[in-house]
Amino acid sequence: MTVSRRHALKVLGSAAFAAAAAPVMAEARSARPSGPDDLGLLFDTTRCVGCRACVTACREANKKPADVVMIGGAPYDAPLDLNGSTLTVVKAWTAGGRSGYVKAQCMHCADPACASVCMMGALHKGPRGVVQYDVDRCVGCRNCQIACPFNVPKFEWGSNTPQIVKCELCRHRWAEGKGPACAEVCPRGAVVSGSRPQLLAEARRRLAATPDAYQGGIYGATTGGGTACLYLSAVGFGPLGLPGLSDEPVPALVETVQHGIYQGAVIPLVLFGAFAAVTWKNHRSARPGQEDES
Ligand code: SF4
Ligand code: SF4
Ligand code: SF4
Repeated sequence: MTVSRRHALKVLGSAAFAAAAAPVMAEARSARPSGPDDLGLLFDTTRCVGCRACVTACREANKKPADVVMIGGAPYDAPLDLNGSTLTVVKAWTAGGRSGYVKAQCMHCADPACASVCMMGALHKGPRGVVQYDVDRCVGCRNCQIACPFNVPKFEWGSNTPQIVKCELCRHRWAEGKGPACAEVCPRGAVVSGSRPQLLAEARRRLAATPDAYQGGIYGATTGGGTACLYLSAVGFGPLGLPGLSDEPVPALVETVQHGIYQGAVIPLVLFGAFAAVTWKNHRSARPGQEDES
């Protein structure tokens, strides 16, 4: 007789149980720390006046076309959000009767979820901790867009040869001795660049100098496993649109589960063995004079 579906399921169930019972445990994935010379930005809502000089400087430095919207019948380069031609944006916030502005760009996570899910390594950590993009490795799957907790990577939908677009901390300017263009032009010191330890020290200095001006500490110091772009806020971080993450890196949980499932290829091998057993039983029972007992 041929092997019944019930028998096959029984075998597969046993295989799954065997895999579950196997003494192979998922090792907790350890967080990847920041480096001492990691480059980053510090943004401070108490200083930003919403002039958007940083947005214009970013566009010019990265040779991105204007994102024109019509306001009162007139065209303005006023992006509403990050997009395929906009690597940084300044948005208005209101909270508790107060209002202000917040700048958004890639956070340059110490342990970036975008890079964790990029099977081709197109997004990866480069020198000075910059999460950088290599178009030659990108297959356009856009997993990075789904994985990023800050909704940062954007796709060039309007291009015949689309790429993923995001801030790379102006790394193309380093050879000229220049840093992030947005920080260079900010008239208020609302966005400043430097190494992550320098930025943390500056943030702590501002908090200590005027503690009543701020709420919520330093976003990114430990948030999401730490980011190189840090925030100080007058109203906490929810009104700024920053997600409430734990200190656990976003990729850590996913990779722990993934590696648990595939560690040592246990489950694939057990399932392969189960299918082989089913095939062998079918083959055997098809031979005349031989009966399967089950
Ligand atoms: S240049 Fe400075 S003050 Fe002006 S919008 Fe950008 S961060 Fe705010
Ligand atoms: S903010 Fe998003 S795109 Fe930037 S490094 Fe983190 S996960 Fe990647
Ligand atoms: S560091 Fe450069 S690419 Fe990133 S937001 Fe600032 S100007 Fe734009």
